[in-house]
This record gives sequence, structure tokens and C-alpha cells, in this order.
Amino acid sequence: MFENLSERLGGVFDRLTKQGALSEDDVKTAMREVRVALLEADVSLPVARDFIKAIEKKATGQAVTKSVTPGQQVVKIVHDELVHVLAGDDEDPGELKIDNPPAPILMVGLQGSGKTTTTAKLAKRLSDREGKRVLMASLDTNRPAAMEQLAILGTQIGVDTLPIIKGQSAVDIAKRAKQQATMGGYDVYMLDTAGRLHIDEVLMNEVQAVRDVANPRETMLVVDGLTGQDAVNVAKEFDEKVGVSGVVLTRMDGDGRGGAALSMRAITGKPIKFVGLGEKMDALEEFHPSRIAGRILGMGDIVSLVEKAQQTLEAEQAERMMKRFQKGQFNMNDLRGQLEQMLKMGGMEGVMGMMPGMGKMSKQLEQSGMDDTVLRRQIALIQSMTKKERANPQVLQASRKKRIAAGAGMEVSELNKLLKMHRQMADVMKKMGKMGKGGMMKKMAG
Ligand code: GDP
Repeated sequence: MFENLSERLGGVFDRLTKQGALSEDDVKTAMREVRVALLEADVSLPVARDFIKAIEKKATGQAVTKSVTPGQQVVKIVHDELVHVLAGDDEDPGELKIDNPPAPILMVGLQGSGKTTTTAKLAKRLSDREGKRVLMASLDTNRPAAMEQLAILGTQIGVDTLPIIKGQSAVDIAKRAKQQATMGGYDVYMLDTAGRLHIDEVLMNEVQAVRDVANPRETMLVVDGLTGQDAVNVAKEFDEKVGVSGVVLTRMDGDGRGGAALSMRAITGKPIKFVGLGEKMDALEEFHPSRIAGRILGMGDIVSLVEKAQQTLEAEQAERMMKRFQKGQFNMNDLRGQLEQMLKMGGMEGVMGMMPGMGKMSKQLEQSGMDDTVLRRQIALIQSMTKKERANPQVLQASRKKRIAAGAGMEVSELNKLLKMHRQMADVMKKMGKMGKGGMMKKMAG
């Protein structure tokens, strides 16, 4: 998986990390090489372009972290961006929703993609690892051989299959599977739908009809990873027509270029949940974006080195801020720092809930509709102040307020709200500061 890409990127970053200082040109050259490597791996052009753009933006805006080289820092940025392109904002795409038994899982995909094999692999996994009772049913009424194949695999892995009744339609079989799964006390039943060589209307109509009677908890699309961008196009169409909850990329054991994996999430918005790595029944792996990114880059050491350095830097910044608070100092720059921190940590509620004494205020803020948009507007207001005003907000009289609000494109009332919040927070900070080092401040820092 990803050997070629990994080799190419390895070369680029080896050179980059060996240099002590990096010019903008060095980074540009490296990024050009990364882009070519991605395109050669069959990553779609828009995805490759956005990828590079995001990295360049982050690389230029980044504060230089002590104790790592700029090249190492770029590696970390590329790593994070790889994780992002593989997973979007999903936390752990390898999970299946299979509560409320019997949970139906619909398996869809083109013929030859590895759908039947993957159905059995998944069933085995659910049964062996999670102790689920699984029932499999083949809905491929056109190909009796496919039905037989699933039955044979079922026997091989020790998972039940729905008895074959000749002449039933796919919808009838789906209904029968549901009935048997309910009566037989199964946790999960898997519907292996018929595939075609190409997407056609008859196929889609049938899959839609099955979907409507089964009401699946998961609709897993199986696509052949060797087909690169085609795999992504197939996924897009299936998602538009039947709705897909997750993707399984098969044949990732081959010498495919891997581009499908990198473009899939960005183009379809659907997570890759598993990858098939061979014909054997246990050749199925959960898709962990950070592990995959690590495998592609092969620079795990550098990534964790930079992570540690960043944590140290953040801890130092936090400590500097604590010291100011302890002295009862809390100006607009501090407030801005806090607001930015909140944005980073997922909004007001998250942070305020963690700060002692802020619970009540958090409620008030919630009622006043504080969210990320509000946070951004408040930061914009602070940015509209002069240096002197930020350091000493007491100087803010009516005319200054008007200027600041207008500069940020907002009303003075909004600025007043911000100033009130600043006063309240400054009060709390002051009280907490007086409690000394062993008091609440310590808790907050920890
Ligand atoms: P279906 O028509 O989509 O149901 O495809 P099958 O499940 O019958 O698979 C077609 C062929 O691909 C079979 O020979 C499988 O053994 C093989 N296959 C399925 N998944 C993988 C995989 O992840 N890696 C490899 N190398 N072969 C696979």
C-alpha cells in the first residue's frame, strides 16, 4: 500500500529536514515535488491542489517552534494535512453503527469489486472480534453462483447464511432476511446486493428498493482500490443514488497507486472505513487515518518530535499568561488569546466548562448565543483597536468605541457586550490570582 508515493515523499522530506534554514523557495520547490508525487499516485487534481495550498498556508503562518528545524515542522504540517484529507473531521471512521439488533448492513458496489468477499470478511470480523451473531444474505438473483459463493464463504467462516429460495426477488429476500434475523435473535444481518459491471438504472432501482425495505444502519460501498479515480467516481454516483455511509477499498494489497484512498473523503465526503488487503478472510483492516498517514510519510519520529515541541511551546505560553493573571493583569490582548484558544478547543462551552468559577458565565454566554461566529466577531473587534486601547481598555470612550465598531463592521452595542465580558473575566482572574499559586490557577494550568 502506498509504497511508491511513500518513497517519493520520503525523498522530498529527507532533503528538506536536512537543511537548517528554509527559504520560501525551498518550501515551494518541495511542494511542487509533493504535488507531482500525489498526481502520479492518481490523486485527483483538485484534491492535490487544495492539499498543497493548505500546507503552504500553514507553513507560512506558523510560529517557529523551538528545538525543531523548519523542515521537520513542514513534515508535521504535511502529516496533519494528510490525516485531514484522509478523514475530514471524522474522529474514528473505523466504527460501524450496529446497535439496536438486528441491525441491517447493506453492501453495495459494482460486480467484481470484491463485494461478496468483503461481506464475508466483515461478517467474520463482527462475529470473531465483537461476538456478534451475524446473518448474511445474497440478493444477487441474476447470478446463482454468487449466492452459492456467499453460502460457501459462510460455512468456511462459521457465519450463517439465509437459505436460498429460487425465484424470489431481491426485495423479497431482504424482507425474509429481516424476518429471520429478528426471529433468530441475530445482532446484525448483511445484505449482499447484486452488482453490475457498470452503474445502470436497473441496478440502482433495485438497490434503492432494497434500501427502502431494509432501512440499513450502514450502507457500505465496496470499491476496487486499483481503479484509482474511477473508484471515487463510482462512490460519488452510489452516494447520490442510494446514500452511502462508508467505503471499503479493496485490493489495497496490490501495487495500486493509492490515489483513491487520498481523494475519496475529500471528493465524496464519505469516510473509508476498511481496506481489503488480500483474498483471505482475515485480510481486512480498519482504516485509521493517522496510521495511514504515518505509513505514507514514514516519518513518525519527526511527527512526534514536533508534537512534543509544540506542546512545550503551548505550555510556556500558558505559563506566561498565568503569571499575568496572577498579577491581576488581564487586558484585551489576553482576552483575545483566550478567545482564540476557545475557537481552537471547540467553542465557548467546551472551555468555560473546564474553568473553575466559569460555569455560571458559561450558561449566560450560551443563552446569549455564543458560538464560533460570535467568537470570530469578538476577535475582529479587538483587532480593530489600537495597541494602546488593547493594553488599556479603560481609555475607551464613546468616540473611540464608534471608530472600533465601525472598523470591524459592527454596532457599538456589540462592542459594549465584549467590554462587559472583559470586565467580568478580569474580575474573576483577579480573584483567582489572589488565591495564589496553590489555588485555582494551578488547577487551570494542570
Ligand atoms: P463481487 O463480484 O464484487 O462480489 O467480487 P468478489 O467478492 O467475488 O471478488 C472478486 C475477486 O476479488 C475474488 O477473487 C476475490 O478473492 C478478490 N478480492 C476481493 N477483495 C480482495 C482484496 O482486498 N485483495 C485482493 N488481492 N483480492 C481481493
